[in-house]
Amino acid sequence: MPELRAPTPAFLDGLRELLGPAGLREGADAAPYLRDMRDIAPGRAAAVLRPGTVEEAAEIVRRCAEARVGLVPHAGGTGLVGGQLRPEGVEGMVVSTERLNRVREVNPDDDVMIVEAGVILADAQAAAEAAGRLFPLSIASEGSARIGGVLGTNAGGLNVLRYGMARDLCLGVEAVLPDGSILRSLKRLRKDNTGYDLRGLLIGSEGTLGLVTAACLRLFPRPAEQQAAFVAVTSPDAALALLHHVRAAVGEQLSAFELLSGVGIGFALEHVAGTRCPVDPVPEWSVLMEVGGGEGIGEALEGALATAFEAGLATDGALSQSDQQRADFWRLRESIPEGNRKVGSVASHDISLPLSRVARFMEEAAPALRAIAPDLRLNPFGHLGDGNLHYNLFPAVGRTRDEYAQAKGALTRVVHDLTHAHGGSISAEHGIGRFKAEDLVRYGDPAKLAAMRAIKAALDPHGIMNPGAVLG
Ligand SMILES: Cc1cc2nc3c(=O)[nH]c(=O)nc-3n(C[C@H](O)[C@H](O)[C@H](O)COP(=O)(O)OP(=O)(O)OC[C@H]3O[C@@H](n4cnc5c(N)ncnc54)[C@H](O)[C@@H]3O)c2cc1C
Repeated sequence: MPELRAPTPAFLDGLRELLGPAGLREGADAAPYLRDMRDIAPGRAAAVLRPGTVEEAAEIVRRCAEARVGLVPHAGGTGLVGGQLRPEGVEGMVVSTERLNRVREVNPDDDVMIVEAGVILADAQAAAEAAGRLFPLSIASEGSARIGGVLGTNAGGLNVLRYGMARDLCLGVEAVLPDGSILRSLKRLRKDNTGYDLRGLLIGSEGTLGLVTAACLRLFPRPAEQQAAFVAVTSPDAALALLHHVRAAVGEQLSAFELLSGVGIGFALEHVAGTRCPVDPVPEWSVLMEVGGGEGIGEALEGALATAFEAGLATDGALSQSDQQRADFWRLRESIPEGNRKVGSVASHDISLPLSRVARFMEEAAPALRAIAPDLRLNPFGHLGDGNLHYNLFPAVGRTRDEYAQAKGALTRVVHDLTHAHGGSISAEHGIGRFKAEDLVRYGDPAKLAAMRAIKAALDPHGIMNPGAVLG
C-alpha cells in the first residue's frame, strides 16, 4: 500500500481558505461525522470537509492526491460495515457531500431525476412523488442515508425484488476521480454501450475509486393500487413455497417479500413503541409481502392467498384494509432493526443465498451455532424474495452480548463458511467496508481480487480514496 501522510498545518490552512467557515468542521464540530449510530468504530480525521460545489470537491481531492493525504467520503453515516469511519492509519480527512444537496432536475418525460450526492434518500423519493413518479429504493435508514452513500454501497432494501438495487436504478453519475478530475457522465440513457461501465464500477466501490457528486436516477410510474399482506407460515421453506405461489399469480407486481421471525417481532414489540403484530399469537415465522399495480391487483393478491391457505402454505394472515394499515404492517418490519439494536446483537450477518438453498442453510446453521453457544437467540429476517437474510445472533434472556465476545469470531465463521459453501455471498447489500475486508479475501475469487487491486492501483495510484476500506 502506498504511504499516506498526515495533513500539514499549511495544507489545512489552504483548505480553510478554499472552503470558508461553512466548508470545514474541526474539533467537537467534527465529532458527529466520526461515529456511527452503534458507536462501535469511532473514526479519526484532522478535519471534516464540506464542499459546496463539485469544483470545490474536485479541488479537495486534487490537493489530497498531491499531498498524499487520505480521505474518507461520508454521506448519511448509516453504513453498517464501517466504510465511512476510519479509525486506523495516519490521520486524514473526511469529505462530506451534505452541502451538495440539490435536486437539479426531475424529468417525468425521461423518467429520470438528477440529484446531488448529499440529497437524503427520503427527500429524493419525495421529489419523485411530487412529479407523479416513484423512486422505489426504500431502506429503513432512508430518513438519514444520502444518495452518495446509497450509491457508494449499492444499497438494496425492500423493493429489490421488483426494481433492483441502487446500481440498477442509476443511469449515470457525476464523480470526482482520485486525481481530482471530474467525470461528467450524467447520461439518462437505458442503452449506452460506449466502452467500460465506469458508472457501474463507481457504484458499490464504497468511496475507494472516487467521490460521487451527483446521479441520474430512474423513475417509475406510481402504482394505482398497493396492498400488503402479513402471513404466518410454518417454516422458511413454506415461506419460499409461498413466494413462488404468489409470484406465479401476480408476477412482477410483487414488489416486496420479507421474512420475519417471531424472535425479531418480539424484540420490536418489546422495545419500539407503537408496534403491533397483525396476527395473534405472534407466529414463529411470517412473511410481509406487498403488491403494487393497476386496479384489481389487491384482489389478485387476495385470490393467491386464498389458494395458498387451501394448499396449506399459510396458516394465518391479515390483508391491509387501508393505507394506514399497510403502513402499520411496514412499521413493524422496519422496527425490527431498532428492536435488534436495543437488545444488542452478539453478531450480525448480511448474507444472500440462492433461493433453493435458504432453508437448507437455516437448518444447518442453527445447530452449528448452538454447538458453540447453546443458548443463543437467532433472529434471521430480511428480504427473502432476493435470497437476502440478515442472520443475526442475540444473547439469551438475562445475558449480555459481552458475555459472548470470545465466541463472536467463531460464530461469524460458521455463518460465512456455510453461506460460501451454499454458493452465497457474505455481503448481500451492506458492502465490505472495513469490517468485512478480511472475509472478502477469505471467500473472494482470486482472479476477481487481483482485478480489483489492479483497478484500484490504476485509478488511485496513491491510495488516497477511503484507505483501508474494501481491499484492506
Ligand atoms: C436502520 C438501518 C436500516 C438499514 N437498512 C438497509 C437496507 O435495507 N438495505 C441496505 O442496503 N442498507 C441498509 N442499511 C445500511 C445503510 O443505510 C446503507 O448502506 C446506506 O446506503 C448508507 O448510506 P449513507 O448515506 O448513510 O452512507 P455512509 O454511511 O455515510 O457511507 C457508506 C459508504 O459509502 C461511501 N460514500 C459516502 N458518500 C459517498 C460518495 N459521495 N461517493 C462515494 N462513496 C461514498 C462511504 O465512504 C462509505 O464507504 C441500513 C442501515 C440502518 C442503520
